[in-house]
Amino acid sequence: MSKSEDLFERAQLFIPGGVNSPVRAFKSVGGTPLFFQSAKGSIMTDVEGRDYIDYIGSWGPMILGHCHPPIVEALKKATSNTTSFGTPTVLEIEIAELICKMVPAVEKVRMVNSGTEACMSAIRLARGYTNRDKFIKFEGCYHGHADPFLIKAGSGAATLGEPDSSGVTRGTARDTLLAPFNDLSAVIQLIELNPNEIAAIILEPVAGNMGCIPPVDGFLKGLRELCDTHGILLIFDEVMCGFRIAKGGATELYGVLPDLVTMGKIIGGGMPVGAFGGKREIMDMLAPEGPVYQAGTLSGNPIAMTCGLALLKELNCKPNIYLELEEKGAYLEKGIREVFDNHELKYALNRVGSMLSFHFGVDEVGNFNEANNADTEFFKLLFHGVLKRGIYFAPSAFETLFVSTTHSYSLLDGTILAIEESLNEIL
Ligand SMILES: *Cc1c(COP(=O)(O)O)cnc(C)c1O
Repeated sequence: MSKSEDLFERAQLFIPGGVNSPVRAFKSVGGTPLFFQSAKGSIMTDVEGRDYIDYIGSWGPMILGHCHPPIVEALKKATSNTTSFGTPTVLEIEIAELICKMVPAVEKVRMVNSGTEACMSAIRLARGYTNRDKFIKFEGCYHGHADPFLIKAGSGAATLGEPDSSGVTRGTARDTLLAPFNDLSAVIQLIELNPNEIAAIILEPVAGNMGCIPPVDGFLKGLRELCDTHGILLIFDEVMCGFRIAKGGATELYGVLPDLVTMGKIIGGGMPVGAFGGKREIMDMLAPEGPVYQAGTLSGNPIAMTCGLALLKELNCKPNIYLELEEKGAYLEKGIREVFDNHELKYALNRVGSMLSFHFGVDEVGNFNEANNADTEFFKLLFHGVLKRGIYFAPSAFETLFVSTTHSYSLLDGTILAIEESLNEIL
């Protein structure tokens, strides 16, 4: 038995499923999850001492690699002050000022502890501001695990959504409307069917939780116009793509201004941090200023803020980072395409900057249905093929690969080679 197998058995005795977040359990790729002990740059070391090239980057935060020196230094200093005051601190002002400077749509920002909290609070705020109950989300977009988001589509646009998790009530599901990603006409239909009832439209402007799916031309702009016409708030969930596809996220990249933005992952540099922000007038509806309640005992925690601030400062002052990430992403894409083409695979490969995913057995993936039609069995084989060769991809065909600045071209070449060797073995 390997050390990881041993640990996984032990973990399952006292942790449900052995993990604290389901995707880590390898359910969708099979096999036993690996336990890791340390990491540096883009190399993670498991408990056996084996090295892996890391393509999950803690699901985003390791955009400059693990143990980035300015972050490690800042944290060392911060921990000697205290781990938490529960009072206002200067750090909170500094990070808020920087976020508002970096993200075009954000004039005021509230810090929370996770992306889930950010999205949950943004919806409450939108409801409070518009005095309406319903909101539209898109199939396959993930906004964390709060009740109103764990809803799947009913059998047609006109039917009600259904709970997508045991424990979510039908009452909650009633207020969540679903449309296919990239489908403006479905959104128009939902707005017509629910006149003056929709508080918000929330989406990942670049979807990253059904593989990576960019918005089609005109989709974001079309949503903006619909929201303006119908008094609906547009919420960009940039928990994944924020600070990743551009310094100012999708707002900067696509030039469409949402009313609210939710953030997470990169924003904490690996600490549990989320945030939501937007127009001043809307944000001022929050307690203690306004009637929409929202709070958090450890929100704005000094260690977490120190970590996030150190990373955001780096991203803000070195704009070439995004050029480098684009170049490395493009290099990896080109290499993978060549290998897939040489093996005459049918596949769809989507990429936005350093976010990349591929789906097998389909030509195009622009929404959840199309992602669902892909050959996940083949993905599993490739996942384990490269894992064996020291490459750690996200353990699900519905996740996205992340490249960091610490992925050197030789590591990218090694990755492409491992994919080729795996395919030679599989096919
Ligand atoms: C990860 C993610 C969330 C949830 O964030 P947590 O910190 O896991 O609660 C929400 N939205 C998007 C787009 C995400 O990728």
